[in-house]
Amino acid sequence: MLKGIAASQGIAVAKVYKLEQPVLDIVMKASDPDEELAKLDAAFTKTVEDIEKIKEVASKSLAPEELAVFDAHLMMAGDPELRSQIEDMIKNDKVNAEYATEQVANMMITIFESMEDAYMRERAADIKDVTFRLKCNLCRKIIPNLATIDTPVVIVAKDLTPSDTGSLNKEFAKGFATEIGGRTSHSAIMARSLEIPAVVGVTGILEAANEGDEVILDAISGEVILNPTAEQVAEYTAKAEEFKAQKEALKALKDQPSISTDGHKVLLVGNIGSPKDAEGVVENGGEGVGLFRTEFLYMKSEDWPDEDTQYEAYKAVLETMNGKPVVIRTLDIGGDKKLKYYEFEEELNPFLGVRAVRFCLMRKDIFRTQLRALLRASAFGKLCIMFPMIATVQEFKDAKACYEEARAELIAEGVKVGDDVEVGCMIEIPAAAVLADQLSKYADFFSIGTNDLIQYSMAADRMSQPVSYLYQPLNPSILRLVKMTIDGAHKNGKWCGMCGEMAGDETAAPLLLGLGLDEFSMSATSILKARQIINSLSYEEMKDLAAKAVECDTMEDVAALCAETLK
Ligand code: PEP
Ligand code: MG
Repeated sequence: MLKGIAASQGIAVAKVYKLEQPVLDIVMKASDPDEELAKLDAAFTKTVEDIEKIKEVASKSLAPEELAVFDAHLMMAGDPELRSQIEDMIKNDKVNAEYATEQVANMMITIFESMEDAYMRERAADIKDVTFRLKCNLCRKIIPNLATIDTPVVIVAKDLTPSDTGSLNKEFAKGFATEIGGRTSHSAIMARSLEIPAVVGVTGILEAANEGDEVILDAISGEVILNPTAEQVAEYTAKAEEFKAQKEALKALKDQPSISTDGHKVLLVGNIGSPKDAEGVVENGGEGVGLFRTEFLYMKSEDWPDEDTQYEAYKAVLETMNGKPVVIRTLDIGGDKKLKYYEFEEELNPFLGVRAVRFCLMRKDIFRTQLRALLRASAFGKLCIMFPMIATVQEFKDAKACYEEARAELIAEGVKVGDDVEVGCMIEIPAAAVLADQLSKYADFFSIGTNDLIQYSMAADRMSQPVSYLYQPLNPSILRLVKMTIDGAHKNGKWCGMCGEMAGDETAAPLLLGLGLDEFSMSATSILKARQIINSLSYEEMKDLAAKAVECDTMEDVAALCAETLK
């Protein structure tokens, strides 16, 4: 049994299909530039044709936004910069086209792989994918085509390129396991949209698995069992059926309200990182967006994104959500989130330094651009703006003053802005949680960022593996801070949401319902399961449960109390 990261939930039992890429033996050869340039030209043409074909196959199973990766590949294959660099090398160094392509590709891949931003690092995979195809075409080697698989298999590979994933036929590709990759790699994202079970980062799988071996892929626990026993096969076949049935049953809840058995309503909404993610929220029955992490817009950009670019992005989300509430968080940069076009001052503890709203209040020019873009977009739906990392009432007032200023400016310019915009405060610093009843005099709503609230309460860096045991959402200390925040909001008639990972945690849901949380914001694929849980619980009973939980000593006691009450 091997272990990896469950990147797309599900269970599959099938035979191993080992995807092995052709081995290219590229060496430098002195060559005639004209011949090599002609070869390169033909290879580029074929590469574009190949990608177009793959895109056509993929368009049958992937949504338009997932197909965008192929457009990016087509653009890369048609990029004059890539081509001219290879051509220059052929002309100047009189080397063969394969060699020149490999050199240029390696250089570009190295640049992307060394970027700080995880998103940019993963784009190196796109360059690898396109240039590998180009090299194969130059060397006349054939890349295995996953679209031709016609028996049920689990694909085992070092990594799957976007073209590989796009070629998968769901009827036969029952799942995949890869040696490398993380939750945000392209293959993982696509597997989730295709709803194909996937376990990534399974060290040793390529060596351990042989073509045709029987394999169980448990993409719920992240386990891969090679050559299982007959009992294991029976057990997991039943589990796979059960998982499928559960998923189907959940679909019935898509357009249902989120309401406890005794009539207490809450909102189940989605967290997004880009405008296109909003469609996933709608498809999964989300009642709005509870957190749009706008920093990704900044991190993907080559320079500070201008007002129009931001406006288009925010407007797109509001339009997709079609009147449902959309909470957009202002720039939360700093800490582990860096920008390639801005040098942050060195700090010993960047998570305790110039982050989020602190940065925005120091760089009001950047803040103003975002606020103007948000306000212009507010005319297209129900917008709620929130400020991250607020520690004091004064900080909130200062940020709100910037908002008011941008609003007055736009109105003076005759620009239409929404008249029901809400301005809220993220609660992710214990000081803000403790003072929630005062903060709620000024903020229209709260959203609890438990990822940070827990790290700051426990003084345990969320990036540090050795202290990760202190990530304890069920610890009574955290539950009390959550309670304080919710009660603090309600005291002044405001609503309270939560957008940290805890909001989508199935074990925490009964407690959060009982504590009176109004809005739960989570990854889109968790929404229907959360609805099933909420709709099966009594609010009154959960209030009693929560009252007992905050009096417990440890998280283990809370977990035991929940298990006992809910059994
Ligand atoms: C949080 O801290 O819980 C949160 C939602 O923000 P982020 O994870 O982006 O810091
Ligand atoms: Mg946070």
